[in-house]
Amino acid sequence: MTATRADAAAIAGAVPDPELRVVTIGELGIVRGAEQAEDGHVVVTITPTYSGCPAMDAIRDDIRSALAAAGYADVEVKTVLSPAWSTDMITESGWAALERTGIAAPGPSGTPTCPRCGHQGRPTPVLQISRYASTPCQSLWSCRSCLEPFNAIKKL
Ligand SMILES: [Zn+2]
Repeated sequence: MTATRADAAAIAGAVPDPELRVVTIGELGIVRGAEQAEDGHVVVTITPTYSGCPAMDAIRDDIRSALAAAGYADVEVKTVLSPAWSTDMITESGWAALERTGIAAPGPSGTPTCPRCGHQGRPTPVLQISRYASTPCQSLWSCRSCLEPFNAIKKL
């Protein structure tokens, strides 16, 4: 049943993030894996991104429906908190998809690069306007070069 196990993990990983629709929960590093028992019972393991992320219930439901649509009737979604999720778990294709929609990576120092003009905060800085943007996992920034506001994923 090795192939089936890989399939269940791949199907779960291909579920789009309910808030950041352009990336999958696999690309965000939320899906840790999937195990299928002899009796067909599937356990998908996920790690929440930010504590209290309101999207986690939606993610659990979406995983169950995606697997049900693929013929997995008996699915359990288990949350593991350790090792804790960090922005390092977002894949390269995940960052690329986010940047294409104007959401910046936090950058090594926690100061993002403007996704619109590529401005990196020197000599004029990019300024944080708000610690919270459209979702709790993003903050709102203003670029002093192109003067456009943009969202960035918070570094964790
Ligand atoms: Zn800019």
